[in-house]
Amino acid sequence: MATIKFGALGFDKFYNVINGELKETAATRHSINPATSDPNPEVPLSTPIDVEEAIAAARAAFPGWAKTQWVARRDAILQFAGALEKNTDDFATLLTREQGKPPQIALGEIANGIRWLRGIANLDLPSEVVNKDATTQIVIKYVPLGVSVAIVPWNYPVMLACGKIAASLLTGNSIILKVSPFTPYCGLKMAELAQSFFPAGVFQALSGDDRLGPWLTSHPGIDKISFTGSTATGKKVMESASKNLTRVTLELGGNDAAIVCSDADIDSAVPKIATLSFLNSGQICVAIKRVYVHESIYNEFRDKIVAYTRSIQVGVEKDAFMGPLQNKVQYDRVQEHLDDIKRQNYHVPTGNHDFQTVGYFINPTIVDNPADDSRIVQEEPFGPILPLLSWSNEEEVIRRANSSCMGLGASVWSTDPGVAARIAEHLEAGSVWINSHLDIEPNIPFAGHKSSGIGCEWGVEGLKGFCNIKAIYFKQDMP
Ligand code: NAD
Repeated sequence: MATIKFGALGFDKFYNVINGELKETAATRHSINPATSDPNPEVPLSTPIDVEEAIAAARAAFPGWAKTQWVARRDAILQFAGALEKNTDDFATLLTREQGKPPQIALGEIANGIRWLRGIANLDLPSEVVNKDATTQIVIKYVPLGVSVAIVPWNYPVMLACGKIAASLLTGNSIILKVSPFTPYCGLKMAELAQSFFPAGVFQALSGDDRLGPWLTSHPGIDKISFTGSTATGKKVMESASKNLTRVTLELGGNDAAIVCSDADIDSAVPKIATLSFLNSGQICVAIKRVYVHESIYNEFRDKIVAYTRSIQVGVEKDAFMGPLQNKVQYDRVQEHLDDIKRQNYHVPTGNHDFQTVGYFINPTIVDNPADDSRIVQEEPFGPILPLLSWSNEEEVIRRANSSCMGLGASVWSTDPGVAARIAEHLEAGSVWINSHLDIEPNIPFAGHKSSGIGCEWGVEGLKGFCNIKAIYFKQDMP
C-alpha cells in the first residue's frame, strides 16, 4: 500500500505506522464523534498483510533496540514525551472529538499520558546479585521478551497506551500499538509523532476492525500481549495467547466499592465520591461503582450527593465535566441498566434522561438503596449510574463489598485511621484507598484481583511483566 512522506504533524489524516513509514490501506473506516454523531476522519482498515509486515519489522528492530543502553532508551521516551507535550492542545482537541470527553478532561488525559511516559521512563530495573555462599554468586537479570502488542480500550486511549509504550520500550521490547476501533485517532498520531525518536520498527501502530486484535494475539511472532479492556475480551485474549504461550498481562473490568463510615467527613467525601464516580461519564475501570453508606448518616449523605450530582455540568463545552457515553453499544448497555432500575421500581432521586436528542448523553444518576442482588450492584455499568447502599455492621459491609467477582479498587472513608486501616486490610482489591479513590501513580503497580486482571502494569513490577527472568550462576571453586 501507499507510503506517505513525513511532514508536519497534521491532525486530519491518519495512517498505520509500519517500519518507520506512514501506510495507507486500500479500504478505510471511521468512528463517529459521540457528542454530535458526525463522522470522524477515515483511518486504515488493516489486513493480515499489514499485520505480517508490522510483526516482521518489529522482529527485525528488536535485537538492536534490546542492545541499546537503558539510558538511551529512557532518553528516547523522554524526548517523545516532550514532543507530545508540545502538541498537547491538538491532541486534546482530537481526543474530545473521538472519545467525547470535555476539553478540560481531555487536557487532563494528555497531561497524564505525558506523566506516565516520564514516570515510567525514569524507573530502573537493575540486575540483582545474590551471594549464595563463598563459591557461588547468582545474578538475576531481567531481559526483554521481544515483540509486544499493546491493546487499548476506548475510555482512556492516550493515557493507557502511554503506560504500555513506556514500559515496553524502556525494557528493550519493540511494540505494536493496536488502537480501539472506537478511538483510533490519538494513538495513530502518537505513533506517527514517535518516529522521530525511535528506530524504524521499534514503535508501530495498526488500526482496524474487530478482526485485528485476534490476528495479533494468535500470531506466533508476538511475545507479549499487554491488554486493557473488558473481562470478557480478556478471557478471549488469554485463550488466543495460550496457543503460542505468549505472555499476557490483563487489566480488566472493575466494580469498585466505597465504604463510608459513620464518622466520615461527609462534606469533604461527597464531592470527591461523586467526582470519582462520574468522571469520564463513569467509563473508568477503577471508578467508584457502589457506595456503602453507614445507616446513621445515610439520609444526610444521600441528600448531599444528590444535590452535588445535580450541579454536574454535562456537555462538551469548555467547562463541562461530563461528556457523552463513548459509543452506541455502551450507550445501549447503560440504557438497559436504567430500564432495569425502572422495572424494579428503585428510587432514583436524580437523573433525568430525556434531555438530549443528539449524541450519547446520559445524565449522572443516583439509585437509592437498590437490592444487593440487583443488576446495577452486581454488574459494572461503565456509565454514570451510582447505587447507594446502606450498612450497619462492619463485618457485613466488608462481605458485601467483597461479594463480586471483580477486585480492581476499593476505598474506605473515615476520620478514624485505625478503623479505616482495619477495613482496608480485608478488602479484596489491587488498589485500596483511604479517604480517596482512583489516586494512581506511574511508579506504583496497578493490578486487579479475581476477574479484574492477571499480572500488573506500571511501577517496577510492571516493567518485569515485559521481561523474562534470567538467573546466571557464577561458580568458582575454592583453591
Ligand atoms: P473491550 O474488551 O471491548 O476492547 C478492548 C480492546 O480489545 C479494544 O482495542 C478492542 O478492539 C480489542 N479487542 C476486542 N476483541 C478482541 C479480541 N478477541 N482479541 C483481541 N483484542 C480484542 O473493552 P472496551 O469496551 O474497549 O473497554 C471497556 C472495558 O475495559 C471495561 O470493562 C473497563 O473496566 C475495562 N478497562 C479496564 C482497565 C484496567 O486498567 N483494568 C482500564 C480501562 C478499561
